[in-house]
Amino acid sequence: MKYSKQREIILETLKQNMIHPTADQVYALLHEKNPNISLATVYRNLNQLADMNIIRKVTGLDNATRFDHNTHKHHHFVCSKCHKVYDIPYNIAPDLSAQIEAQTSVKIESCDITFRGVCPDCMTKN
Ligand SMILES: [Zn+2]
Ligand SMILES: [Zn+2]
Repeated sequence: MKYSKQREIILETLKQNMIHPTADQVYALLHEKNPNISLATVYRNLNQLADMNIIRKVTGLDNATRFDHNTHKHHHFVCSKCHKVYDIPYNIAPDLSAQIEAQTSVKIESCDITFRGVCPDCMTKN
């Protein structure tokens, strides 16, 4: 299989699974249909895609490094039951950084906000 084709499949898998999977999860998701792609290839391509800013590496949600196809500004919500990670639109609080800068003397360069709770899927299961 061609190198670029592998990367395409990996990127497609990420886009179809908006749960911010880890490299291991991406591998598990695509392995059935693409048994020729190794875990090492998945790792390498995800890191390269992140280096090229095509996808985003998300750290700090838990112990794992997760991958996000959404490179636009947004916040995250982690379900404490199923551990899926959902995107929260940035425009829910677009002026948060500006407000913090106005009320304190800090200069904000970036922000990563993570909300935690129970997702709709897990709420209906209970
Ligand atoms: Zn959940
Ligand atoms: Zn995200």
